[in-house]
Amino acid sequence: MSDYLFDPPAIQSLAVRGEAKRFPIHRLFFVGRNYLAHAEEMGNPIDKATMRPFYFTKTPQALTPSGATVPYPPGTKNFHYEMELVVAIGKPGFRIPAANAHEHIYGYAAGLDMTRRDLQLVAREQGRPWDLGKDVEHSAVCTDIMPMPGQVLSDADISLAVNGVTKQHSNVSKLIWDIREIIEDLSEFYHLQAGDLIYTGTPEGVGPVVAGDQITGQVQGVGEIALTLGPAE
Ligand code: MN
Repeated sequence: MSDYLFDPPAIQSLAVRGEAKRFPIHRLFFVGRNYLAHAEEMGNPIDKATMRPFYFTKTPQALTPSGATVPYPPGTKNFHYEMELVVAIGKPGFRIPAANAHEHIYGYAAGLDMTRRDLQLVAREQGRPWDLGKDVEHSAVCTDIMPMPGQVLSDADISLAVNGVTKQHSNVSKLIWDIREIIEDLSEFYHLQAGDLIYTGTPEGVGPVVAGDQITGQVQGVGEIALTLGPAE
């Protein structure tokens, strides 16, 4: 007999390549504006000398496995893709020096940070939270995790296509705040835990999708992602 009035939420998890056991998800963190050309296309130039990275989160229940078909979400007329490298944290840490950041890396995945761009921009202009724009149901799409314990990924092509037409193409070497710096900075605000995922930001070329579109993307050496947009509910 359960202690709960109703079934508690399921633990979200991702498959791990070459490993029978799954990677259970704790939290989903996202870095905003972490490629210069994307920050500029969004109208926000970055000066690393005077700025720090910023973050938003999505509920773990927003996690969606690669290959899924998801409904076009309610409340938007401008639903955007953002292709991202995802870091999977495998060891807890607080106030982690950049030099030690690699010790906390379990592996990497390819991810999509799907975004109601119209609602995000209204929130931005009005100084309101981004939740309606970003914490969208089914919007944290992620591949299986490629175990790469202790490795700091600093050079890998990242790209995305819609219906086979390339829309984003860059390299993770262009991250403004690199993997070590993100782990150092984020761990000054949170006690990072095994099971945390950090979506590291998207390169330039973001844009809208409509029902019926097929998104494909890849991070070199990490994984290939796919998502199909179904009709609105
Ligand atoms: Mn993003």
